[in-house]
Amino acid sequence: MSCEQITAKSFVDYWCGDLATTDAEELEEHLFTCEDCARRAGELARTAMTLRDAMPRGEVASLTLTRSALDRLERDGVPVRHYTVRRGETVACQATPDHFSVVHLRLDTPPGTRRIDAAIETAQAETIHYEQVSINHADGEVSLAWPGEMVRAQPSGILSLTLSEVEGMERRVLGKYRLSHSAAED
Ligand SMILES: [Zn+2]
Repeated sequence: MSCEQITAKSFVDYWCGDLATTDAEELEEHLFTCEDCARRAGELARTAMTLRDAMPRGEVASLTLTRSALDRLERDGVPVRHYTVRRGETVACQATPDHFSVVHLRLDTPPGTRRIDAAIETAQAETIHYEQVSINHADGEVSLAWPGEMVRAQPSGILSLTLSEVEGMERRVLGKYRLSHSAAED
């Protein structure tokens, strides 16, 4: 097994137990002898921890990222594809299995200190709720991230995203955004 054959996905598959036994053994063997890949594995593990920490409790479908978690992802060499969407806009996006898709939802007015929730309606009219998403105050945006594998599983269609400000029982819509997602062809 050569260094080039070992991608970020190889490590993830390995940790998830999704690699065939022989592949897993080859990978382990390589890590024992190759300092570069061992370091890469360490960095990715660190990123995975950051992601886990950034993940709202009980949520696995998407991650809301703080600016520092996002910077760390990219510093660790995880390929990221960015999509910036303004209020009322529809932006086209396409999934690539080896990339993280990060969607930046821009807020027109600087967010206050209130709680912000996100809701995503999928092309199949399922709604996924994210409570208390993290806000990048400096950029005035909320960033949602999905691993490529997960995005790829989505059929083509429009994803509608809504950001709402919540205070007590009151809920005010801050913005609606749309992603026109095209599924990858195999
Ligand atoms: Zn190597």
